[in-house]
Amino acid sequence: VNRFGLVYTIQGSVNSLRPIVFTAHQDVVPVQADGTWKYPPFKPYYDGHFLWGRGAVDCKNNLIGILSAVEALLSQEQWKPKRTVIVAFGFDEEVGGANGAAHIAAELEKTWGSDGIEWILDEGGMGLVIQGDAIYALPAVHEKSYLDVYIDLEIEGGHSSRPPSHSGVGIVSEMAVALEAHPYRPLLVGGSPYYKHLVCQATYSPDTDPWLKDALKENKLEYISERMSAQDRDIRFRIQTSQAIDIIQGGGKINALPEAVTLGINYRIAPQDSMEAVKENVAKYVKPIAEKYGLTVVSFDGTVLNHSESVQETETYRGTIHLRQGESTPRTPISPTANNVWNEFAATVRHVFSDYANTVVPVGDIMTGNTDTRHYWSLTENIYRWSPARIGTRLNAHTVDERLDMSAHIDGLRLYYGK
Ligand SMILES: [Zn+2]
Repeated sequence: VNRFGLVYTIQGSVNSLRPIVFTAHQDVVPVQADGTWKYPPFKPYYDGHFLWGRGAVDCKNNLIGILSAVEALLSQEQWKPKRTVIVAFGFDEEVGGANGAAHIAAELEKTWGSDGIEWILDEGGMGLVIQGDAIYALPAVHEKSYLDVYIDLEIEGGHSSRPPSHSGVGIVSEMAVALEAHPYRPLLVGGSPYYKHLVCQATYSPDTDPWLKDALKENKLEYISERMSAQDRDIRFRIQTSQAIDIIQGGGKINALPEAVTLGINYRIAPQDSMEAVKENVAKYVKPIAEKYGLTVVSFDGTVLNHSESVQETETYRGTIHLRQGESTPRTPISPTANNVWNEFAATVRHVFSDYANTVVPVGDIMTGNTDTRHYWSLTENIYRWSPARIGTRLNAHTVDERLDMSAHIDGLRLYYGK
């Protein structure tokens, strides 16, 4: 599909059953400096425990796992699936999936109709978490929304031998500092997938912290939010909007003042905040700094928030700040966890991982990233994002020394194979 997209269909014997779709992506993020890797990133190395290499965790394990399971099943003559099985692999997930998954979605919709798929399983989720006698299987049934914001400053340049007190880089840096000084608040939303996850945990794990059990009973959501978010970043960013200043660009010559400076900020928005609120918040912290230097601010929708007249310093800075929205993905619908499709999926999960603990508790969770499934909403409401791996088995996705504990690969294989 669209040259690099791969879709394989294994026809089932019962036509009235909607197909299931297993998906993963073929692309990886680039390597920034391969000299810093322990093993060359594009020469996979297996040390007997971990498989090292770019893509080992994100998510060629899913891709190879799905293919291996399908191959193993197809080689058995007695394997005749009732339900059609579709395997679909995009190739540009890391840059939004517009060329891969978007085209695959259109193709599948053409063949099977809108809402024509039973369920879709992609990478993602919060893995397998063992706690006491219970193991929690945490497929994501919801993704945070996604937003990139750019602050573009155009400012008068000049010779570096007679600079103003602040160059464009300095001014934009001040904005970066102001934004980072005001992170978003964590908040556990009652009834949300993560809330349900905690309630399940309190029900099935006797060793759940007593304070958490009590606080859930008393519905002290703010108190829980504060304590939980202090524990680790995985938990924190399920309930808090993240703000990461990832790009600063500006200046081209060491003896010339920069005339254009850009700051790029990536947001993953938690349920209690909205895309509009995040944009307003950026404007709120940028505006006073712009005012201080007498810079014009043009907001996201073209409204001028500040004119360059109001200079308060003795120096004049002539320039304009444009607030710009980049890529964005709206909040995903929440896949139901109280219908027959979920029940069947959850039963499979319980069966597959029953040897790990006395109780296997599948519970839908929220995930902080986005996957190719952002293009698949029209195919089914039942979208599960899940790489079934235990904590500590998937290391360094998107950075140096990406590596996968082989046991996590086996866990994935077991799920795809169904045993
Ligand atoms: Zn991925």
